Amino acid sequence: MKIGIVGGGFMGLVLAHKISQTHAKVKVFEQGTQPGGLSTYQDYGDFTWDKFYHVILPTDNHLIGLIKELGLADQICWRRSLTGYYVDKKFYSISSSKDFLLFPPLNLFDKVMLGFTIFYGSRIDDWKKLEGVSVKDWLIRVGGRRTYEKFWSPLLLAKLGENHEKVSAVFIWTYIKRLFQARSSAAQKEHMGYVKGGYKTVFDRMETLLKQNGSSLALNSTVKSITSETSGGITINYDDKTETFDKVIFTAPLNKLEKTVSPELFEISKNEKKVEYLGVICLILLTKKPLTPYYVLNIADEDVPFTGVIGMSSLVDLNQTANQHITYFPKYVTADHTYWQKSDEALQELFLEGVYNLYPEFDKSEIVSSRIHKAFKVQPLQVLNYSSIIPKTKTKHPDFYVVNTSQFVNDTLNNNSVVNHIEAFMKDFEQEIQTDTEEI
Ligand SMILES: Cc1cc2nc3c(=O)[nH]c(=O)nc-3n(C[C@H](O)[C@H](O)[C@H](O)COP(=O)(O)OP(=O)(O)OC[C@H]3O[C@@H](n4cnc5c(N)ncnc54)[C@H](O)[C@@H]3O)c2cc1C
Repeated sequence: MKIGIVGGGFMGLVLAHKISQTHAKVKVFEQGTQPGGLSTYQDYGDFTWDKFYHVILPTDNHLIGLIKELGLADQICWRRSLTGYYVDKKFYSISSSKDFLLFPPLNLFDKVMLGFTIFYGSRIDDWKKLEGVSVKDWLIRVGGRRTYEKFWSPLLLAKLGENHEKVSAVFIWTYIKRLFQARSSAAQKEHMGYVKGGYKTVFDRMETLLKQNGSSLALNSTVKSITSETSGGITINYDDKTETFDKVIFTAPLNKLEKTVSPELFEISKNEKKVEYLGVICLILLTKKPLTPYYVLNIADEDVPFTGVIGMSSLVDLNQTANQHITYFPKYVTADHTYWQKSDEALQELFLEGVYNLYPEFDKSEIVSSRIHKAFKVQPLQVLNYSSIIPKTKTKHPDFYVVNTSQFVNDTLNNNSVVNHIEAFMKDFEQEIQTDTEEI
């Protein structure tokens, strides 16, 4: 059995890895020059590191399981990490329970309410109940208006941009679950991890294993159309070539589904309502000295052009990055944001100005290089009753499937959720390809 996968991001490659371990052969089509999509890497000359920042949490069991399965368990490094919050023009650590208790922008009552919200949120199992209520209404109802305005609202703005009020309470529930579970219960300290060499190590290994199993990854291969054959099978047209597969799985963002699949296939695979995505614009600085002690600094200040500072070198050993410090300055934005109209040079100037204002003591001569990375379709917005508008993995065509991040209904966007999603999909899919082969 021959299976085509559209999209060689982490989703497409994990899927290819899992399927290639059955009797089926896989071919992945990726339009980029490198594998990995949003998880891909940047070549800095002396070293490569992730194009966008990625971290592994100790609770990422599915992802850690995959890394072990790839034979890379000994390549994972764990480090203590710090989280900060920038508010009222000051930096605060929020890395431990003690830090929260000392957090000056909140009074004692606010802190109790914040603690209660986190505790209450982490105890909820039935996320469906939260789908019909907006994140703002839920947080105010549980933790009070002041705590919302002082703590949650700036955090939501940082994570979701101006559209955060459209999002359901499931978003904050998944956030609380993922991040606060990561504090090791024994020490109440955060630990975070990475794979030596970054995600490139993971993708290189996956590509080697795919080849060993008789499967392949076609880079520089933009899928133009996907059509179903009356005689059976699905044909992929890419760069003026065509290839027919027994089954095809689409993993790219939903706007690409509409652009590539034939009208009759789209009719039976489309979602009920348009899914809106947030994009990301990110300045990446390589410097000779570190800029921040925090892995994540959340910025609650609308005067700053970015909404976070990710101090990758606070986590990653300097021998991984040729003794240079990588810091990312991201801003999550909707498709209509004015930033998309700006050139990379203009964005770089704007963000660098923000860096100098935030760190006035920072010496510009410490900068080794700076660049802007952008991605237009990153995070699907989990609006009210989101699970009712997304496409199903199994479409009405027996040989065409949609498996992508828009289907994360009770998870944040991260690679642990990707592996979890694929493992759930494989339970039925493996059975289907087994039955189909027996029938042939
Ligand atoms: C700034 C940022 C920070 C993040 N931080 C973390 C983190 O700390 N931890 C974590 O676990 N996760 C993190 N993530 C999330 C992680 O990157 C995603 O979960 C993951 O990359 C999603 O992979 P995907 O394959 O679903 O999507 P994508 O990466 O978008 O893959 C889709 C692929 O389809 C390809 N494609 C599209 N159209 C076509 C076509 N017509 N033909 C062929 N190919 C096509 C694209 O080129 C792309 O490679 C972060 C993401 C971002 C952007």
